[in-house]
Amino acid sequence: MLNLILFGPPGAGKGTQAKKIAEEFKLMHVSTGDILRAEIAAETPLGLQVKAIMGRGELVSDEILIEILRSVIEKSKGVKGFIFDGFPRTIPQAEALDKMLTQEWQNISAVISLEVGEEELVRRLLNRAHELGRADDTEAVIRNRLMVYDKHTSPLLDFYKVKGLLKEIQGTGGVDAIFGDLCRVIREVS
Ligand code: AMP
Repeated sequence: MLNLILFGPPGAGKGTQAKKIAEEFKLMHVSTGDILRAEIAAETPLGLQVKAIMGRGELVSDEILIEILRSVIEKSKGVKGFIFDGFPRTIPQAEALDKMLTQEWQNISAVISLEVGEEELVRRLLNRAHELGRADDTEAVIRNRLMVYDKHTSPLLDFYKVKGLLKEIQGTGGVDAIFGDLCRVIREVS
């Protein structure tokens, strides 16, 4: 199996690239943000529980996320591999993912980090909020999401670096050029 983590701050382009990678390498795309947004849209108890937290740009609890992942992995027997997008976002999530994959005799093949500067991220996220009519995605919420990333998620870079799994890629430039760089790295590890 080929199990990839697409890593990077909000606005780095993980969603766009993860979809393309899933198609190219026949992997299952797991976006925890999409899963949570679907729960909110369906007004499930979980959706109601996480709506305000997500609206503030904060992280949903590790417990909830790990449970979601467990259920996704259980339901995905027979897939060729996963591309994780937006997960893990904390060290406990990364440790839980390792454990779940080990139980299936699997491991992470590579963690690919998309590198984009902070002001470019804010510009992209404001544009996206405007295009999608997300009026509550204000600059303050966006800056909070980036702060949360720095504090809770960026330590994962070292976590995976010491395991020798981290690959870094420039996340600026055209979508197709970035995708080309990603494909090169993925072919090296697959
Ligand atoms: P995303 O679409 O990946 O940017 O996720 C949108 C929001 O969903 C985040 O700002 C968090 O509130 C929540 N979320 C998604 N994935 C996770 C995760 N792995 N851990 C905690 N919260 C998450």
